[in-house]
Amino acid sequence: MDKVILHCDLNSFFASASCLNHPELQRVPVAVCGDVKKRHGIILAKNQLAKRAGVKTAQAVWEAQQTCPGLVMVPPEYQLYMELSETVKHIYERYTGKIEPFGIDECWLDVTPARITKDYGTQLAHEIRRTIRRETGLTVSVGVSWNKIFAKLGSDYRKPDAVTVISRENYQKIAWPLPSSELLYVGRATKKKLDRVGINTIGEIATSPELLLKSLLGKNGLTLHAFANGNDMSPVQPVDHTYGVKGIGNSMTTKHDLTNDIEVKQAFLILCEMVAYRARKKKLQGSVVGIYLRDKDLTHITRQVSLPRPTFIADEMVNYAMTLYKANWDAAQRPIRSIGIRIHKLSPIGKYTQLSFLDPKHIYLQNLEYTKDDINRRFGKQAITRACLLSTKVAESNPEEQHVVHPLSFFRR
Ligand SMILES: [Mg+2]
Repeated sequence: MDKVILHCDLNSFFASASCLNHPELQRVPVAVCGDVKKRHGIILAKNQLAKRAGVKTAQAVWEAQQTCPGLVMVPPEYQLYMELSETVKHIYERYTGKIEPFGIDECWLDVTPARITKDYGTQLAHEIRRTIRRETGLTVSVGVSWNKIFAKLGSDYRKPDAVTVISRENYQKIAWPLPSSELLYVGRATKKKLDRVGINTIGEIATSPELLLKSLLGKNGLTLHAFANGNDMSPVQPVDHTYGVKGIGNSMTTKHDLTNDIEVKQAFLILCEMVAYRARKKKLQGSVVGIYLRDKDLTHITRQVSLPRPTFIADEMVNYAMTLYKANWDAAQRPIRSIGIRIHKLSPIGKYTQLSFLDPKHIYLQNLEYTKDDINRRFGKQAITRACLLSTKVAESNPEEQHVVHPLSFFRR
């Protein structure tokens, strides 16, 4: 039996939230942006009026102002976004326990009933859409399908405040004519490769020989072929509520582009110190380390590695991050503008550490971390730092102010 899966996407979430919080902004074009003075001068989100005037997410602030002269800039209000996101999740919980968040403003819901009646998913989608608008003032677009990929496609298809059904009967008509880049996980690099061999639409991915896609994109080619045909069987995976967080990550846009391995390592050190500290504070450790790298053209990659044993130690995270970086990127060739690290598959500290007594260095590093925490707690955050970070331009960036929110699909895989 097919499932009934919804993908709910809050429309222009940051901008809508800010407008709700400041009613005087309701009737003007509004963009949420980072600090204009530093390098974060890009648009994080915009409301419908700004969108209609041609303002785009990730556009430079000066460019957006040229496109839309009356544009009002507001800073991000992360606390507000988190609270609203929670409120909306509580609404979803009235309909199902199977909720998988995808970023702060999107969720998949598995609402499969014991017996599916005709239009069940559509009716429920409309009910959820109306409830969210009535209770929060936000609008949501909902995709309804038998799989997650097409449900996501549906929520993108028509917005704001809309429902799109992609069924076994209509998917070739609705999904297949769309450009390949609309398919989840077809990023810029993948799209380029597909374009080169004349595969431009989702339908063309679906009907291309698997062998061709495999030779072009490796294993990912086969995955995309399956996705384009609606053969995504992955279940909606609820976040493990015992830990409350799925991963701990920090990212930063550096004031200067990073152009060599030493700078990259310094940036990872700063970020890993933060991530490791936050993990220890929550008494958690991660079994997977992931990195995010972006150049000035907004082209980015994410890579991750599973660890032989979970860690909450900054030095260990840096080593894994550098290995991933060296295997996938060369800053000398392609300067880095934005960099991030994240640990996930979290578990409570102590649960899987029985092996550590075999490794004195690991114990030594653990103790060192706890000692550093202690010193910082007693004498302030700047009390102890790494010598290699004392005279670096990378250290001028402060990741603490910037964590969590990123306009692009940061570590979404
Ligand atoms: Mg959204």
